Amino acid sequence: MALETPNHTQTVAGWAAYDSSGKIAPYIFKRRENGVNDVTIQVMYCGICHTDLHHVKDDWGITMYPVVPGHEITGVITKVGSNVKNFKLGDRVGVGCLAASCLECEFCKNSQENYCDQIQFTYNGIFWDGSITYGGYSEMLVADHRYVVHVPDNLPMDAAAPLLCAGITVFSPMKDCQLLESPGKKVGIVGLGGLGHVAVKMAKAFGHQVTVISTSPSKENEAKQRLGADYFLVSTDAKQMQRGKRTLDVILDTVPAKHSLGPILELLKVNGTLVVVGAPDRPIELPSFPLIFGKRAVKGSMTGGMKETQEMMDVCGKHNITCDVELIKPDKINQALDRLARNDVRYRFVIDIAGTSKL
Ligand code: NAP
Ligand code: ZN
Repeated sequence: MALETPNHTQTVAGWAAYDSSGKIAPYIFKRRENGVNDVTIQVMYCGICHTDLHHVKDDWGITMYPVVPGHEITGVITKVGSNVKNFKLGDRVGVGCLAASCLECEFCKNSQENYCDQIQFTYNGIFWDGSITYGGYSEMLVADHRYVVHVPDNLPMDAAAPLLCAGITVFSPMKDCQLLESPGKKVGIVGLGGLGHVAVKMAKAFGHQVTVISTSPSKENEAKQRLGADYFLVSTDAKQMQRGKRTLDVILDTVPAKHSLGPILELLKVNGTLVVVGAPDRPIELPSFPLIFGKRAVKGSMTGGMKETQEMMDVCGKHNITCDVELIKPDKINQALDRLARNDVRYRFVIDIAGTSKL
């Protein structure tokens, strides 16, 4: 589709999956010219989110191949459209999940573009002009400036990249649950992966007691020593889960696979809230007893609005929160995706797109 759109004249080198085998190979494609509201970004780094894995394998049945994944993008501005006032050449910027929204609905007007029902994503979306969007596994990106944020000067571009999706996806529900302004809460994080490890760092920086709920006993030491978690529960150990009953105020569930919310809900105090951000392809189990016996609530949350994303970047700048990353060259994307599928990453792969790091 993109190739048929008249102003798609810029040739870009990227990496795409061509079918549901999920194998990534080089892909040359076209991007639109820089419009009046656009900025052009030389991509430096792009994180590999589990959502990329869901897309390349067509887990959710919505993938339009070839798909160029990537929505944890950092880079430098090389062109600025005439309507753009808040960015200039050379600025260090980030792009996350959002490429476009209607700009007119109550959510867009209220800085919650992420809940606009016309939302289009950075990849596997359909832009205003009818072209399919291609993400950050590519050397250059043209983005509407309304969906671009500044990266604080003190944050390294590689370790900041995953903040654009993993970071905002856990920051937004934490803010929604008043965790930014009321320290001393007991917060649980289910799944210590890309999203989970940033959530631990943020919850600690905001002054909470943090419990990690994990399927991986091998992560306990690093969760406590490196990431600062206070407690660690192995979710497959019924005794440990029993000891954790009714201890937590808020839990974020980042698990990407089918599981039951029952044992997790039991960890909440009466009136506690469980926020689901993980997106398994099959329905998660929600037994009614732990819900009704504890007057507990389950809700979802999807990425964050753009104002909130900038706020999150600034908060991370202030607290020096970055992600623990394993940098790879683009020719190692397939190995990285395989390892991500096997839960073998501490804690985010980031692709060195521009080749600026010593690897
Ligand atoms: P990730 O790096 O793979 O981390 C997920 C963690 O969940 C793993 O490290 C593992 O932690 C645990 N886990 C994995 N498989 C499991 C299983 N079968 N049963 C129980 N636990 C399991 O993934 P991520 O990038 O953080 O993304 C997590 C999910 O969030 C994905 O589904 C992704 O699509 C979704 N997501 C949603 C949004 C949103 O806007 N809502 C945004 C971004 C991503 P332990 O080893 O500690 O158990
Ligand atoms: Zn993501």
